[in-house]
Amino acid sequence: FTYNFDTAAYKGAVTINTGLFIGGEWVDPIEGELIEIRNPATDEVITKVAGGGKADVDRAVQAAKKAYKTTWGLKTTGRERGKALAKLADLIEQNLDEFTALESLNVGKVYANAKHVDVTGTVTVLRYYAGWADKIHGKTIETGENKFAYTRHEPYGVVGSIIPWNFPMNMLAWKIGPAMACGNTVVLKPSEFTPLTALRLADLVNEAGFPPGTLNIVNGYGSSVGQAISEHMQIEKVAFTGSTLTGRRIMKAAADSNLKAVTLELGGKSPTIIFDDADLEQAIKWACMGIFFNMGQVCTAGSRIFVQEGVYDKFLEHFTAAAKGLAEKTGDPFASGTQHGPLVSQAQFDRVMSYIKSGKEEGATVHTGGERHGDKGFFVQPTIFTDAHPGMKIVQEEIFGPVGVVIKFKTEEEVIEQANDTIYGLASHIFSENTSRAIRVAHAIESGMVWVNCANTVEVNVPFGGYKQSGNGRELGEYALETYTQVKAVHINI
Ligand code: NAD
Repeated sequence: FTYNFDTAAYKGAVTINTGLFIGGEWVDPIEGELIEIRNPATDEVITKVAGGGKADVDRAVQAAKKAYKTTWGLKTTGRERGKALAKLADLIEQNLDEFTALESLNVGKVYANAKHVDVTGTVTVLRYYAGWADKIHGKTIETGENKFAYTRHEPYGVVGSIIPWNFPMNMLAWKIGPAMACGNTVVLKPSEFTPLTALRLADLVNEAGFPPGTLNIVNGYGSSVGQAISEHMQIEKVAFTGSTLTGRRIMKAAADSNLKAVTLELGGKSPTIIFDDADLEQAIKWACMGIFFNMGQVCTAGSRIFVQEGVYDKFLEHFTAAAKGLAEKTGDPFASGTQHGPLVSQAQFDRVMSYIKSGKEEGATVHTGGERHGDKGFFVQPTIFTDAHPGMKIVQEEIFGPVGVVIKFKTEEEVIEQANDTIYGLASHIFSENTSRAIRVAHAIESGMVWVNCANTVEVNVPFGGYKQSGNGRELGEYALETYTQVKAVHINI
């Protein structure tokens, strides 16, 4: 399939294969169905791609298993694996504009953001783990006279990766980078809504030097391909990013099959806390980015914005102005000047609009936004709620859209209690010029990540992951390597 881009940001043709990529080849599915892929800015069908089924997952697992035993895993050196990952990063970089255009088209991302965050971020992550591939060491442990043990950090074998639609390329890189650096082979399922960049990337896998079967991409629905990966008896580990509901299903499937290892990056309802002594201009800028970036479809989005009473009015005035400014820059993701695009799908649009409705019904006030933008595509205005109470759905549940709730607070103790009053524990953002207070609160918040005087600035070498029902295990940094290896202790009696 070839798509001809003729946009302000990119002109040119991009060709992708719409089949399944298994064993280094494009194949037709054994079972499954064609899946329509839509442009969220217009709701037009872009193309149809093959979706696989259980038999296709099995075929991919067999290819991955063979590759693991013969050409990858313990049969390669870290240096060789690193070389392939680095080459893949180079090839993506050489096609940066093509990947950006596809990601923007399929997800509705603002072009400049897709380029700098999604595609460039992917290159960065693959290079980072290419560097780690030859640095995965065990330890030597003394156990007595003429005795010692050593540890080996061995790969699991075949790893299943299931990723969501909000950052399709980044999530792919976060999964395959550490998994393959450690020597695992991979069966990856993109989101059925956003497979286009993964399909374009599959065409580079052989050229990068990955032996056939090391990286397999099986597009399809969660209920078929995702479920088949989670319950496959020869997949030794599954790494998942997506909703808490699906994470729970995957963990159950893993438990009921071969007790495979599971790491989960799930949802969030992250607090942004702004104290009276914050640099307000900075806090407004970051709070705005924290909830509205990527149209709020960010798992670490600062969706509950707690503001101390002394600066509440001023904050709200300027934050509202910022949201209105963004609303004026809503439109075609490829047009220069656009800062706010559509949500990814009709389903996500309906979900976000139903939360806005529920907020109103429960008595909260729409301070700005709250409506659809335009009459085609899945655009929702940047929306701010006030007058919300802790029990409301808009305060408790993840909306995953451009909808922030601003809540006034009095004391540090009170805001810590409210911030922690959630089933989630992914991230938090704290704004204060009082360093002691900022650190004290950072330690009191139950979340896997805390940003002080900034928000959601993901760094490749810093662990990413959540507490509570936001998941388990960590991605990125050195920490991710632990989740893709198992430790073997070898006891030696000389
Ligand atoms: P989702 O859980 O519906 O889908 C995620 C992936 O899981 C998709 O590929 C889907 O096909 C697959 N899937 C669905 N049902 C499955 C099943 N029964 N078994 C196996 N796989 C299945 O989530 P989504 O709607 O794609 O993404 C939005 C959610 O993801 C939000 O809740 C968001 O917070 C979360 N998310 C979290 C992070 C993080 O790092 N913590 C990052 C991005 C998104």
